Amino acid sequence: MRKDVLIIGQGICGTFLGWWLEQKGLSYIVIDEQRPHTASRAAAGLINPVTGRRIVKTWMIDDLLSFAGEAYGDLGAALQVDCLTQTRVVDFFPTAQMRLAFLQRYEEDPQYLQLPSDEQHYRELFHYDLGYGIITPCYLADLPRLLPAFRKRLLQQNTLIEAAFDHQSLIVEAQGITYKDITADRIIFCDGIQSADSPYFSRIPFAPNKGEALIIDIPDLPLSATVFKKGMTLAPWKDGLYWVGSSYEWSFTDAGPTEIFKQKTEALLKDWLKVPFRIIDHVASIRPATLERRPFVGFHPIYPAIGILNGMGTKGCSLAPYFAHQLVEHIVHGGAIRPDADVRRFTKILSR
Ligand SMILES: Cc1cc2nc3c(=O)[nH]c(=O)nc-3n(C[C@H](O)[C@H](O)[C@H](O)COP(=O)(O)OP(=O)(O)OC[C@H]3O[C@@H](n4cnc5c(N)ncnc54)[C@H](O)[C@@H]3O)c2cc1C
Repeated sequence: MRKDVLIIGQGICGTFLGWWLEQKGLSYIVIDEQRPHTASRAAAGLINPVTGRRIVKTWMIDDLLSFAGEAYGDLGAALQVDCLTQTRVVDFFPTAQMRLAFLQRYEEDPQYLQLPSDEQHYRELFHYDLGYGIITPCYLADLPRLLPAFRKRLLQQNTLIEAAFDHQSLIVEAQGITYKDITADRIIFCDGIQSADSPYFSRIPFAPNKGEALIIDIPDLPLSATVFKKGMTLAPWKDGLYWVGSSYEWSFTDAGPTEIFKQKTEALLKDWLKVPFRIIDHVASIRPATLERRPFVGFHPIYPAIGILNGMGTKGCSLAPYFAHQLVEHIVHGGAIRPDADVRRFTKILSR
């Protein structure tokens, strides 16, 4: 079988890469083994324009927000899935310092920030003593619907192999690759944290970070397009349920859920919610984060047939559509990849 591109992995990166290749008329096939704990399946899907304790704008956010709107809109229309919802984050201040930080930031740059007209509005649903601020607009990507819908389409088009990729079977040449019965001009790794162990990309500075979340039912919390935050994030999830998380762990033994996270989060919810809740599920995964908090996009300096779209860290929902598009423009038209995202910034390390 002959293809333009072989994609490894169908998380949010592999999905958008396939979509943009298709838009440009390039042929591709995806290999994905649907691992149990993948980042895209654990994610809340939130695209938040501000970040951190100082509530600063996230990297490239003005461009990413407008790009995400169109990208999810077009892909969703093709799949007949409404996969992006505009939302706002109601940010209950967990400490007096956080309240001060929000108010200061609002004074300096109110883009994406609002103050509530009625601070009492959520008193019947939540405990909060220090008031709240509003972050808007934000977006929620519906990955639990988007990823299976794209997978179904791949299966219908006979462009998905549900299997584990085996590096031993890959033959790399200057002009392309061969993998079992597939020949392709390029192979692009979208395999999430697995690339940190890859024979080609293990030297670039991945910084694996584990996150967990509980899926809960809160029958008395009216489902609206609002995300709530108080240390933890509480976001609408599929089937009328809520996602609450997450942790950021640099030290861990495996990707699976832990009892300690469950107990901690349950206690936190009991302090925060005034209405009853029930735990339905518990998800966990390792984020493909990077030391410099910038993605890895582009082609290996020594093996130009081998590419990567990875390192999306905590921001895969906004970064993946944008950089998948940039990578496809690079393949088709030779367009530039942003230097601070281009994997060739590691040419020295990758050439050893
Ligand atoms: C708890 C948690 C919450 C998060 N919340 C958000 C959020 O709200 N907003 C946001 O923007 N980001 C969030 N993130 C980050 C986001 O999930 C990631 O940035 C993103 O999902 C990474 O996508 P990916 O496609 O690179 O990797 P993955 O989603 O890990 O996909 C990799 C794919 O490759 C496949 N694969 C791997 N190895 C092989 C192999 N050898 N053979 C075959 N297939 C293979 C896997 O099965 C998988 O399908 C969150 C992450 C976590 C863990």
